Amino acid sequence: MWEDFGFFIPPSFDFDTILATDCYGLHYCRLVTTNLAALPIKEALVRRTIIEDPLCDRCHVALESPLHALWYCNELDTIWEKSAHCRKRREISFLNFKELLSWILTQPTEVELFAMVVWGIWNQRNKVRHNHVAAPLHQIFQISAEKLADFTASQQPAIPMMTRRVSHRTRWQPPLADLVKINFDGAVFSSANAAGIGVVIRDSSGQVLASCSQRLSQAYSSTEVEALAAAKAVSFAAELGITKAVLEGDSLTFIKALSSDHSSLAAFGLIINDIKFSARNFDQLLHSHVKRECNFVAHCLARHEFDISDFLV
Ligand SMILES: [Zn+2]
Repeated sequence: MWEDFGFFIPPSFDFDTILATDCYGLHYCRLVTTNLAALPIKEALVRRTIIEDPLCDRCHVALESPLHALWYCNELDTIWEKSAHCRKRREISFLNFKELLSWILTQPTEVELFAMVVWGIWNQRNKVRHNHVAAPLHQIFQISAEKLADFTASQQPAIPMMTRRVSHRTRWQPPLADLVKINFDGAVFSSANAAGIGVVIRDSSGQVLASCSQRLSQAYSSTEVEALAAAKAVSFAAELGITKAVLEGDSLTFIKALSSDHSSLAAFGLIINDIKFSARNFDQLLHSHVKRECNFVAHCLARHEFDISDFLV
């Protein structure tokens, strides 16, 4: 069905793994990103001197970039206004579609539905361009939601019961009512001699309170960059006035070292000392280790840093 809808599914795409991790929305977004580079969008076609007119076919005003054609075009209001979070899309500016995806992943919305609607918009655009029968724009959201529901229903019986139990355990869990949860992660880009860190802070209802990401101009070891991400997470939360929190990461080595009463002799020992010192500003700062699948938003923010030059909040 995904191929029918316009997706190129890479050979490595494994729906079972994706469903088991319960984070397949992120994978949908990766598919969108993967396919964006190949989209015959007008901006790219003009650059390659294949066509001359770069304007959007819908509004005839703006340059047709991926971000415009799939998100910002005024003609798409009738679609995105049906989503509570996407309705606010004009209040936030993004430089490119990847930035938009990073933001979508921090929203308490259905990432899978977002990806499906995006491809509904693209599919409809192509049909109109080629004079084929196409659904009217105001029906795209509903059609996409129905296709997603059909697809999800068709997949569920194939998931073994054992996998479903694992799936439940690997879902991100909100903190207790009077706490916030600070998820952090680091990523190393050895070939670029750089690293990235990502932090997302959510309350007990799962609502994102703040997020940030930063590029570091050095390829640290994976545990060192985890430590730097945790230090940024703690200082960022303190700046926001947070006093009761759970600090959650997916590096067992680091969380163990942080939770130990003994000084760490590892290369990141000094950073741990700094974090413990900063923790005195909190009334309560608990530590939690989770599997990587539960830390996907912070992970994505850290990876996102490869594409930006400095610090984003
Ligand atoms: Zn337009």
